[in-house]
Amino acid sequence: MQYRSTRGNRGNSLNSPQAIIKGLAADGGLYVPTSFPQVKLPLAQLPTLTYQATAELVLSWFFDDFDQAQLQQVVNTAYATQWDDANIAPVSDRHGQNYYLELFHGPTLAFKDIALQVLPRLMTKSVTIEKINREIIILTATSGDTGTASMRGFSDQAGTQVIVFYPHGGVSPVQLRQMLGQRGQNLTAIAIEGNFDDAQTAVKKIFNDQQFNQRLLANDYQFSSANSMNIGRLIPQIVYYLSAYGQLVQRGAIRNGDPINFVTPTGNFGDILAGYYAKKLGLPVNKLICASDENNVLTDFFRTGTYDRRRDFYLTNSPAMDILVSSNLERLLFDVYQEDNQAIQKLMAALNTTGHYTVAKQVQQQLSTTFAAGFATQDQVIEEIKRIYDQDHYVIDPHTAVASFVAHQYQTNSGDQTPTVIVSTASPYKFPETVLTALNGQQPTTTGLVAIKELHHQLQTPLSANVESLFNEGQRKERVIELAVMENTIAELLHLS
Ligand SMILES: *Cc1c(COP(=O)(O)O)cnc(C)c1O
Repeated sequence: MQYRSTRGNRGNSLNSPQAIIKGLAADGGLYVPTSFPQVKLPLAQLPTLTYQATAELVLSWFFDDFDQAQLQQVVNTAYATQWDDANIAPVSDRHGQNYYLELFHGPTLAFKDIALQVLPRLMTKSVTIEKINREIIILTATSGDTGTASMRGFSDQAGTQVIVFYPHGGVSPVQLRQMLGQRGQNLTAIAIEGNFDDAQTAVKKIFNDQQFNQRLLANDYQFSSANSMNIGRLIPQIVYYLSAYGQLVQRGAIRNGDPINFVTPTGNFGDILAGYYAKKLGLPVNKLICASDENNVLTDFFRTGTYDRRRDFYLTNSPAMDILVSSNLERLLFDVYQEDNQAIQKLMAALNTTGHYTVAKQVQQQLSTTFAAGFATQDQVIEEIKRIYDQDHYVIDPHTAVASFVAHQYQTNSGDQTPTVIVSTASPYKFPETVLTALNGQQPTTTGLVAIKELHHQLQTPLSANVESLFNEGQRKERVIELAVMENTIAELLHLS
């Protein structure tokens, strides 16, 4: 299986280990298969397969440069006892009209663990396959979830180091606790004086600094990236869409072959794109519903065909979805434009220079046969958490609440009765301050671990082992630096000559 850039020629391709190590193509495009796997999805078997077996199957379709024993080792170690639930991604009972696909039973309590337990393992194997004897430096800017999940995934993975930059005072108390509590010898998290955008821009600049890259090579290091554009993160996410379907068949909620809907809380468009790939592989998906918060650039896009980033940016109570440029959308466009890389180049150039683009009419029409979209305001998020709790004593986090609200609104407006799965991306204990506000009608006086205790006390349900472990981790001292010294700090950390 070869991979090419969404903006480059088909002939210019890499194998999967190379694409995983590179992360992003040099022309700015994203790696996609040169020909999408033509497989017969074993639909009837899905209900009987373990999560690990399903994962091994999906990975073998996309990453056939790895042998079966390697893939098996990857999934069996990625989805092992670090998960609170033996099903890895269990589907809840029906609450209200809908099921909730719980993707938050991993070590950092959010769905990024699903991919970031796999990617580091694929990365170390890729390095071996490609016979690279340099150490891989994963450089990341994070507003919270990506940083913690990357550190956890790469912790003590041989031949790798992770350096995470986050905005000082700009991540949640629980996320800060998670980052400073990481134990691996190869992990560093550093706060910068600035906001997330500052961190992100500076990291991109360092990535593209030719001189600095040369210096790294001379010291037997090379950069790579664990961000959600990496194909090694996207493919493992297809698995839970298949697994959810199998679980619903197994419990008799649907019959094999029946269509279902998914509603996905969306930021960078990686999660929902994996759902699209699952449908492309043959999963009976009726609608994929793209749920956004007040940064509703995607809602407008699916409704009008115009993507327009020229708007105010809001920091909301669903911070992982506060995004105006959803990078993975490019892979969807590539598919609906029938792999026309020049068309993609033009759209992305327009986005870059003018801040907006409009897709062709028939493309918009085609998208609307599969996708619907909606958004929730912060107040609606609060109300939705309360509504679902009052109805059923089921507690959801703010990101999940965005999707839950959009699902309810869509079902009311469209009358669509298709069985629907809400993709639940974070544990309510990861955002206890917002959840307590919703349940009690007022902001709690506590934050972080104390707020978790308060929520636990109120709900009277046992804490999972992964939530418990937050209380047992030691804490490193926070280190804060100026933006201007980021590159020097990396050089110092790596003892570059
Ligand atoms: C990252 C994240 C999202 C958004 O997922 P994308 O793949 O970026 O669309 C939603 N919810 C949570 C909790 C996340 O961490």
